[in-house]
Amino acid sequence: MVLQEQSVGQVMDGKALAASVRETLKQEVDMLLAAGKRRPGLAVVLVGDDKASALYVKNKTQSCKKVGIESFMHTFPAATDMETLLNCITTLNESEAVDGILVQLPLPAHLSSEEVLSVLDPNKDVDGLTIESMGRLFAGKTGLRPCTPVGVMALLEQYNVEVEGKHAVVIGRSNLVGKPIAMLLMQKNATVTMCHSRTKDLDQICQNADILVVAAGKREFVKGSWVKPGACVIDVGIHHTHGPAGESVISGDVQYVDAAKVARFITPVPGGVGPMTVAMLLANTIVAYERRTGIK
Ligand code: NAP
Repeated sequence: MVLQEQSVGQVMDGKALAASVRETLKQEVDMLLAAGKRRPGLAVVLVGDDKASALYVKNKTQSCKKVGIESFMHTFPAATDMETLLNCITTLNESEAVDGILVQLPLPAHLSSEEVLSVLDPNKDVDGLTIESMGRLFAGKTGLRPCTPVGVMALLEQYNVEVEGKHAVVIGRSNLVGKPIAMLLMQKNATVTMCHSRTKDLDQICQNADILVVAAGKREFVKGSWVKPGACVIDVGIHHTHGPAGESVISGDVQYVDAAKVARFITPVPGGVGPMTVAMLLANTIVAYERRTGIK
């Protein structure tokens, strides 16, 4: 009899953890309302008709509803000019009802995300992408942190993955994911190696990783043979493709089946980091609300 090979890695269930985070946040909002306070508010700005962006935004506004956060949608056609967009951000900066502003990236090519982020009030920067937020993270000061990286840290904590003194390898160095994850891991006393498209001998570097975070944006890029036995593998990638029967398939940056055979912990795609990103956006909105209203 041939035994089927079993995966040994414990699946880090981001969907379940996100649901539990949402439940906690809902209770916090309920308490605010019971005390006669207004609802926290999140403004979402979407420019253009990118399908993936529209889907992410829908997901985010639906999640807001679940916890009682008011969401304000601002949708613009792809041809919108910079002045219109900046005016919108300025209005949202000044709005009392808005605690968090999320500009869904990427923007159409003719619009500069840097310029948009430069006018966004750092106190409402729930994506943690303004220069002020990044500087505060870099300096180890309190501030709003990017959602995916804090979601990753929450997963590590939930599954009691030891970080201190461990070798963490991060593939990807974007401002949105790779750099802030590396910074947060270092603040938890990991020894961090950051890798990118010019890194040499990447497979060997990965084989030395106790914690391997993959945010390369390349489908099934990391092979099972790159994973150190007993490592924790966090797959940030999201790729939408189609299966043989035309069905929609979502996969990550890691060859999951092979990696799960050697990893001690592994995040699935979907159901790993993705739901945590949205949950942390809601958490950031409530933190921004509490700071703006002087509750904390
Ligand atoms: P990005 O801005 O395109 O950055 C990709 C990074 O990967 C870059 O730093 C790049 O290096 C590096 N890279 C590319 N090819 C590589 C290679 N062959 N070897 C080593 N490094 C390589 O992407 P991102 O915004 O960080 O997102 C990364 C992935 O995460 C994407 O799949 C995205 O869809 C996903 N994502 C998921 C969530 C979530 O909630 N789960 C949130 C955000 C993003 P260089 O700097 O040298 O070009």
